[in-house]
Amino acid sequence: MPKIIAANWKMYKTRAEARETAAALARLLTEKRTDRQVIVYPPFTAIAEAAAALDGLACAAVGAQDVYPAAEGAFTGEISPRMLTDAGATWVLTGHSERRHVLQESDELVGRKTAFALANGLCVMLCIGETLKERESGCLREVLQRQLQAGLAEVAPGDISRLAIAYEPVWAIGTGKVAGPDEAREAHGITRELLRDVLGAAAASVPLLYGGSVKPDNAAGLLALDNVDGLLVGGASLEAESFAKIVLA
Ligand code: PEP
Repeated sequence: MPKIIAANWKMYKTRAEARETAAALARLLTEKRTDRQVIVYPPFTAIAEAAAALDGLACAAVGAQDVYPAAEGAFTGEISPRMLTDAGATWVLTGHSERRHVLQESDELVGRKTAFALANGLCVMLCIGETLKERESGCLREVLQRQLQAGLAEVAPGDISRLAIAYEPVWAIGTGKVAGPDEAREAHGITRELLRDVLGAAAASVPLLYGGSVKPDNAAGLLALDNVDGLLVGGASLEAESFAKIVLA
């Protein structure tokens, strides 16, 4: 399967800034022969601009950073899968560590978002990962198991082909600390094994991405590891030049 390189722009960029960055990315990647799949997750307000700017780049898709698990209704401040699709998104992130730990999202809500977005035709990148405290207390497997079981509890078997998992150790996100090769290899191995328990044979074809302080100079090493099928990039994706280097790493 092609490696997936995804950009999480978090709460950065106005529409004009998003258009500029996406257009620069399209220029940098056009005519570079790459079999990588690129996904850009701008803030909601800039999804349509980013989608328009990346329209000519065949390997690129646009996603949203969150979604609410209802078709419509009295959910002030929330956004539905249909609204995201209408804006040009084909992917959505669920369970990003900032939503779990800053916005207190529960495993159960992440599970409902994942299943609902998939059932409504979106591709979903479910994020999982342990805090430093959990890792140091020997709970890595237990945390990943809990997040995967709850996150995938309601997923229909027919939707698994549109699912990806991003392993992002919380202690490595935005901190400059990247998981070492042994740590990443171990966590991805455990994730693949746990996915098999939850999804059965279909788990083998679910892409597993690594995220956490990925930069142009560590991307190739991470992509070479077993069970690393792609990268989810935050800070280093905000500049087109540095993200393009990661895509081409
Ligand atoms: C992220 O936002 O998913 C992320 C991995 O951020 P960073 O690359 O900045 O650590």
